Amino acid sequence: MSCDEEITVDKDSGNPSKAWERIQVHQQHMVCPNPHPTAPITDDKIRFVCISDTHGKIEGSGNKLPSGDVLLHAGDFTQRGQMREIEKFNSYLGSLPYKIKVVIAGNHDISFDDSMNELRLNGFGLQKSAIESYLSARGLRSVPELLTNAIYLQDSSVTICGIKIYGSPWQPVFCDWGFNLSRGEDILEKWQKIPTNTQILITHGPPVGHGDLTGGNNNVGCVELLNTIQKRVKPQYHVFGHIHEGYGVTSDGFTTFINASTCTRRYIPKNPAIVFDMTIPAGH
Ligand code: 5GP
Ligand code: MN
Ligand code: MN
Ligand code: MN
Repeated sequence: MSCDEEITVDKDSGNPSKAWERIQVHQQHMVCPNPHPTAPITDDKIRFVCISDTHGKIEGSGNKLPSGDVLLHAGDFTQRGQMREIEKFNSYLGSLPYKIKVVIAGNHDISFDDSMNELRLNGFGLQKSAIESYLSARGLRSVPELLTNAIYLQDSSVTICGIKIYGSPWQPVFCDWGFNLSRGEDILEKWQKIPTNTQILITHGPPVGHGDLTGGNNNVGCVELLNTIQKRVKPQYHVFGHIHEGYGVTSDGFTTFINASTCTRRYIPKNPAIVFDMTIPAGH
């Protein structure tokens, strides 16, 4: 398959379990036996430490993160995007020894989503005016600027040691939280922005079939995201969370899929971080 294959909306886009039943016949689906390498970090490699869905609970929890070079967080670092929750998370990031921390938002980090109107914000006890005065009192213009200890990605990328990382918070509609988009055309429009040369993709939600099984045994991942990953972007790693009970690592034989949810389904922050190493490209 060529790398620039055009992705169109899947015929079973709205029914991910049915889509996966059809797609999985053509998939290798291996569970990685050792998601936590303990080998020492060598000079030719960069070590990534993945967490997600910490929901304001990893701070002070005793869940000690392994050492590495770069921390990746796949969203839901708060319960509902309150300013004090963001500040607490930012201080926690500041206390960690990684050289670089890359963060995206999730549906719980509501105040990061500019498309939330006043009514929807109020539903979560947030007010636009209160957020604005909180920011202006600190000389800031946007909520992500509160994350002074991280590189925040939102439909954008950063290149670290020659490795291109792209992050996006969107996920298929579930309740009325932040960064919700309808399955099909709306969400595919966001995935079309992912550059083809992305090596590490971070999204909040899973693709269908990988780390997306809920407690009720339904696949709820995004069909358009899997198609985009497998037919066009082909990243080496896809890091996500959102479906807490889908924590773990799988592979399709090319891309390694990491559901890094730190919290369990009951919001207990006990899952260990998932670690992987990448070889630093020549010249970096
Ligand atoms: P969160 O509220 O932190 O975004 O997600 C927490 C839990 O809600 C997940 O672990 C999962 O059990 C459930 N959940 C989230 N999104 C969906 C969805 O699209 N469908 C279903 N059935 N459950 C979901
Ligand atoms: Mn979550
Ligand atoms: Mn690629
Ligand atoms: Mn979530």
